Order: sequence, then structure tokens, then C-alpha cells
Amino acid sequence: MDAGRPNDDDPEFEPSGDPEALDDTERDALRQDLLDVEVLKEVLGPKGIKGAVFYCPDCDEDHFLAWDLLAGNLKELLEAGESPIHEPAFDPDPDEYVSWDYARGFLDGYESYAAEEVGELSSKLADELTSRDWRVDEVKSLLARLGLDSPGSEDNAGGRGS
Ligand SMILES: [Zn+2]
Repeated sequence: MDAGRPNDDDPEFEPSGDPEALDDTERDALRQDLLDVEVLKEVLGPKGIKGAVFYCPDCDEDHFLAWDLLAGNLKELLEAGESPIHEPAFDPDPDEYVSWDYARGFLDGYESYAAEEVGELSSKLADELTSRDWRVDEVKSLLARLGLDSPGSEDNAGGRGS
């Protein structure tokens, strides 16, 4: 229960004076986190993962933050320098939340997987089109129009000895 919980309505809280500004490195990290959260929401949301769980040493318990709430907290942290991270989550189902470490690890894997897949796709497409007598410049312009990189500057006609 909540017995012994300290009163956090602290009148000593400095109302004026320089708010401790985040330095550029911290702000960059927060912006990156914010982007990550948006990608995670898009990628994991449809899989039924609603957010991330953080252990909070202050409350001595896990906080479940849905992606939107997490993004909101990060934005607030960027703008105001503090985050309302202790907001209680609404009846979370732990199965629907992953740890932030897991989320970040997933994201790393996902991004390199996605990059690899796109690279493979464009090189397959280029091979396919070339075999249908497309000219190299036509292939390149199609790939560019699709937002794909042309597969390497190296000439990959003929077998590459790996
Ligand atoms: Zn807390």
C-alpha cells in the first residue's frame, strides 16, 4: 500500500532561478529516443505491444508507458526539462509491454534488417530488369524514382567471388 510514501508536493521546489537546461547531447539523445518511440509504435503496435516498461527507483515499481504517453513524456522533457513519468498507467497488461532495452535492441535489429532487405530488393530488381534488356540508366532512374539506392557502384554483372 501507499503508507510511508513521501509527500512529493514539495514547497521548496525552486520556482525561479535558472532552470537546469539540458545540454545539447541530452537533447539529441531525447530527440533520438522520440524518433525511436515513433518507429516502435508503428512497428510493435500492430503486434499488440502497447508500450515499454521502466523500473522506477523512486517509486520502487515498474512504470508501464504506452507509446503515446512515452512520446509525450519525452516531448515534455525536451521542452520543460522534466517529465511526468510517475503518472500511473491505466490498468496495464504486462504482456503488452516490453522493456526499453528490449525495444532498443529490437529497433537495432529491425533497422539493419530493413536496410538489408531494401538493399537486397533493389539489387534483385536491378538484376531482373537488366535480364529483361533494360538499360542501366533506365534501371537506375526507376530505382531512384522508387526511392531505392542503385545496388552499389561495383559492377555486379558476372559472379562475385565471395
Ligand atoms: Zn516513479
